[in-house]
Amino acid sequence: MDISLGLRSLLFVGGFVISSCALIDTYVDAPGVDIERIATTTGSIASASFMEDRYGFYLRGSVRPRSINKIPLSGHIDIAITGPDGASTKCMTTRHRNPPRKVRRPFFVRFEKLPEPGSVVRVWHHGGAIHNGCVT
Ligand SMILES: [Zn+2]
Repeated sequence: MDISLGLRSLLFVGGFVISSCALIDTYVDAPGVDIERIATTTGSIASASFMEDRYGFYLRGSVRPRSINKIPLSGHIDIAITGPDGASTKCMTTRHRNPPRKVRRPFFVRFEKLPEPGSVVRVWHHGGAIHNGCVT
């Protein structure tokens, strides 16, 4: 019995499992990063968490509209990332629109990398037109 052959095929199976995991979206724990979900006049953020797929990291979440959902929820999601020093803030926006009385559609925001530990990520829904910079 060749033990090394058995070990090699075991490693092969292990490698296969790891690479196939990379093809599906997985939840990512961003250590020391605080995600604050902020309620606005148009809606509140029902959920927000970091995910990873084969293209990299993204923030995924959903919005709960403030009014009973008779009209489509229009607008966008604003994301403000404040670094561990508390001084620098980077803002991002992503379009988000939810049809009335439908299952909440998630929003997605791509990140080049996860925020550093100690960062605060604030997320809110904004009913206005899309814009540059941090506007609440
Ligand atoms: Zn905005």
